[in-house]
Amino acid sequence: MTTFAIGDIEVQAVVERIDLAGLPHRDFPDAVPEALAPYRAWLEPAAICPRSGELIMPVQTYLVRTGHHTILLDTCIGNHKTIPSTPDAHMCEGSPLLLKLAAAGVQAEEVDFVMCSHMHYDHVGWNTKLLDGRWVPTFPNAKYVFARAELDAAAAEAGGEDKVYEESVLPVIEAGQAVIVEMDHQLDDNIWLEPTPGHTAGHVAFRLRSNGADGVMTGDLIHCPMQLPHPEWSPSFDYDPAMGGVTRRSFLDTYCERDVLVMTQHFPLPSIGHITGRGDGFGFRYAGSDLVHN
Ligand SMILES: [Zn+2]
Repeated sequence: MTTFAIGDIEVQAVVERIDLAGLPHRDFPDAVPEALAPYRAWLEPAAICPRSGELIMPVQTYLVRTGHHTILLDTCIGNHKTIPSTPDAHMCEGSPLLLKLAAAGVQAEEVDFVMCSHMHYDHVGWNTKLLDGRWVPTFPNAKYVFARAELDAAAAEAGGEDKVYEESVLPVIEAGQAVIVEMDHQLDDNIWLEPTPGHTAGHVAFRLRSNGADGVMTGDLIHCPMQLPHPEWSPSFDYDPAMGGVTRRSFLDTYCERDVLVMTQHFPLPSIGHITGRGDGFGFRYAGSDLVHN
């Protein structure tokens, strides 16, 4: 786990797993080998495996402790989920996430809020767990904060082979634990939502602020460092790839060379740092000495 502070807020990045996520052009059609060639030396070995050429992508949650609340930002893949479209994630068992949260001093009962950037399988998985054959909220005392536009889009896509909505979202609503908000909702003085649509219709980022310090959790508005020099490289599974590209460039412009700690979901570890200017595009300066690893 990696621990850091944003003012008086304590944040821990808790990793569920690290995946080899296919060759770059499998999901990012623009990232053909010739286009990627100028960046290979920069991307290997952390972001691209030198041996297989595949993207290296962690799956993680951010455990946020403000003076008032214990909050999870996104909830990884979870156990036993029906995701046949992604065989590596389908019917997984043995996710260490709850054990790791316990090691960080947080029992499931102690989580006050669960916030989801969007409703893809690797961001809502631990929203629920199987109990006696039924899906129930994993965090029994938490309010789950869902953006209305994202919820509506996920509900509209329900009924397919993957059961993300049915298994990881609907049971939370049925348990009465969902709080449905607009895409710019402010939870309190420390944390609020920022609309970042494109990857999904209702995708949001999370802004954190305390005592003059700032952070932002990206969700999947950006997936991997190769999108820094090419913000227009959107994955083929985006809801609206063109909008995703516009949102990503706007985000990178906004946070470039600013004292805002950027917490990504899928950049190689440690997945946090600062957006920098680099040539015509952007770069990333990974956080270092201000982090505690254990
Ligand atoms: Zn993701």
